[in-house]
Amino acid sequence: MRSFDETLAMLLDAARERPVRPSVVVDLDQALGRIAAAPVASAIDVPAYDNSQMDGYAGRVSDINLSTAPLPVSQRIAAGHPGSPLAPGTVARIFTGAPIPEGANAVVMQEQTTVDEDGRITFTAPVEPGQNIRPRAGDLKQGQIVIAQGQRLSAADLGLCASVGVGRLAVVSPMVVGVCSSGDEIRQPGERLGAGQIFDSNRPMILGLAQAVGCEVIDLGCLPDRADVTRQKLADAAQVCDLIITCGGVSVGEEDHIKAAVAALGTLDLWKIAIKPGKPFAFGRINQAVFMGLPGNPVAAWVTFVMLVRPYILAACGAERVTPHSVPLPADFDWPTPDARQEYLRGWVNARGCLEVHARQNSGVLSSVTESSGLIEIPAGVPHRRGALLRFIPYSALI
Ligand code: AMP
Ligand code: MG
Repeated sequence: MRSFDETLAMLLDAARERPVRPSVVVDLDQALGRIAAAPVASAIDVPAYDNSQMDGYAGRVSDINLSTAPLPVSQRIAAGHPGSPLAPGTVARIFTGAPIPEGANAVVMQEQTTVDEDGRITFTAPVEPGQNIRPRAGDLKQGQIVIAQGQRLSAADLGLCASVGVGRLAVVSPMVVGVCSSGDEIRQPGERLGAGQIFDSNRPMILGLAQAVGCEVIDLGCLPDRADVTRQKLADAAQVCDLIITCGGVSVGEEDHIKAAVAALGTLDLWKIAIKPGKPFAFGRINQAVFMGLPGNPVAAWVTFVMLVRPYILAACGAERVTPHSVPLPADFDWPTPDARQEYLRGWVNARGCLEVHARQNSGVLSSVTESSGLIEIPAGVPHRRGALLRFIPYSALI
């Protein structure tokens, strides 16, 4: 058996050996979740001018603090409408986001002022220089990198690009990933379920996981347990896919034709990975396409995808961050007899901020995934005592 870390390292090496994927320039509304192909630098200072953080009055600190009489309002400055230099001994009515007039060096919020019958202003609190002014370049400086190459773009990143005037950017073109399930027992929703048959849960799930990581997906259907059909389907898929993912048919059973087909068409390695669920994993190549065969049990397919396939895809796309974000948390359960394999339990964080596990941890129980909010990692061979820390990988970090 190979350790999980060793397997992941091999997959990431294989991903990074591939030629760099081409990039495409897209509008911001097409960029969510995609990977930046080049760094983005700010063309401007943000903010581009000193501006008011409050609705209130802009003035000179010396005028405001030293004057014994109320000060007249000499102008009104709204956001988007720059004023003129501030006349000495006066203040400007100003609104949030409006440019600070030349000569003013503080803004007083309107709650700290009173207005007399003649519209003149009395200040009820002392004023500090720079108060309530958002200074030019206080957020970003011109030329500063706002998006790193390899960064996966969040909604906030899109906002940041727009804030520096960038409306289009280069992103890595998505990987084309074909997904097929396998097995004579597999039927599709809508079909009649006969004796000994089950519905195909893995294929829509894996297609969804691949889409969530930014891939262009091709649904390759379900392979029957037949050598000729399997071989033809995989050969066709290799013409159009960067990555072919199958599920089922990679364990030691006799009806497993996928292994034989891939070995005949290209190269195939069968790995026994020390993770639970998910031991059997096939990795190979058919011409230019990479092949990955996931186990058939739905939770094993889920775990191997998120822990191994997803990092591979992100690395092949040049992402800087490829492994899922995890947090150490105390666990509210004992796990006295750990497996020799690293385990991924389905669980969640309870109201006390501690980890709890789903009661059913069998690799065939897909509802253990839908009824939990993340994976809890139990290192191989290490008994766990209540209260000790375990790593938690929230599913929200995988979408
Ligand atoms: P296999 O790896 O083909 O021996 O399959 C292991 C287990 O996973 C068997 O119980 C299969 O019926 C089940 N399985 C395989 N493929 C799927 C699928 N697409 N959807 C749901 N269960 C599956
Ligand atoms: Mg099978």
